[in-house]
Amino acid sequence: GDELVAAVHRLITHADETRRLDVWTNADTADDAARARRFGAQGIGLCRTEHMFLGERREAVERLILAETEEECEAALAELEPLQRGDFLELLEAMDGLPVTIRLIDPPLHEFLPSMEDLAVKVALAKERGEDPGHDATLLAAVERLHEQNPMLGLRGVRLGLVIPGLFAMQVRAIASAAAELRKQGKDPRPEIMIPLVGAVQELQLARDEVEGVLNDVASSEGVEWKTPIGTMIELPRAAITADQIAEAAEFFSFGTNDLTQTTWGFSRDDVEGSFFSKYLEKGIFAVSPFESIDREGVGALVRLGAERGRSTRPELKLGICGEHGGDPDSIHFFHEVGLDYVSCSPFRIPVARLEAGRAALS
Ligand code: PEP
Ligand code: MG
Repeated sequence: GDELVAAVHRLITHADETRRLDVWTNADTADDAARARRFGAQGIGLCRTEHMFLGERREAVERLILAETEEECEAALAELEPLQRGDFLELLEAMDGLPVTIRLIDPPLHEFLPSMEDLAVKVALAKERGEDPGHDATLLAAVERLHEQNPMLGLRGVRLGLVIPGLFAMQVRAIASAAAELRKQGKDPRPEIMIPLVGAVQELQLARDEVEGVLNDVASSEGVEWKTPIGTMIELPRAAITADQIAEAAEFFSFGTNDLTQTTWGFSRDDVEGSFFSKYLEKGIFAVSPFESIDREGVGALVRLGAERGRSTRPELKLGICGEHGGDPDSIHFFHEVGLDYVSCSPFRIPVARLEAGRAALS
């Protein structure tokens, strides 16, 4: 009962005094953020923004996909901006005074598109009845055009930002104007902007230029000045290998070990558990999935390399990890050894992460 709670509390406090790794959280909403703060999160290492394009907002996204002119594209984005601004306002307020790493949109595109099969059926039925399929036919053509055989290797992350004009800018305006409003209220919002799925410094530099432009615009139109760090995820082998170049355009790196595991092994992160890997475990070929616990020799070596090369260019580069491994005890020991600054994990894993980070510092 109470005694156990008190003992655990003492243990975690002791770990907090010992550990060198900070413990941040992955949280996408103000509720998650508040919960994580109660568990002791020292920042948000990953706020995914994909959900900010779903639900009732799908219609605006559909208009974005169908846009044929720049004006139509802008109009669809203008619908989304105030809604996202509201989301960021709540989130930054919940984390007042602590860093909030907001990742610009990184969807596998198919998750945002209406189903091609459903649309095809609708269009076929309309034609059979001698009706004009109109909007559905236009939408189907667009969805077919965007269809990819391997969406996880396709138009995602920074690629999407570079291909759809104004998309990243809309998100950054929503973030910066929310932060400006909170500053004017005397609060201390600390957004950081993270660009996903970068494979080459050229991609990051282009995205960064756009982000900086918007940040400067908002700061001057709102009349408030502050510094917003801009960084990237390291989640492709090429990004880890060329981290010395990438660090020229990044103030922080966050290792995305979910995608880095997928792309290093060539295992589909969505299929691996239901597919051949269960046989591997059964036969004892491996004792544990590399998606669960960091594969030190392969994926881990890329994390180490990325950290070293990144810091060779920029010694003060802040380094974190926001893949699922950030909450895994064995992996936390590894991230401590590599010298990362923080791990970021889901709110409920924070207490264990604090303990393990403390144990890692003792061993
Ligand atoms: C990752 O790839 O490790 C990551 C944190 O991003 P996501 O899981 O959203 O792809
Ligand atoms: Mg990823």
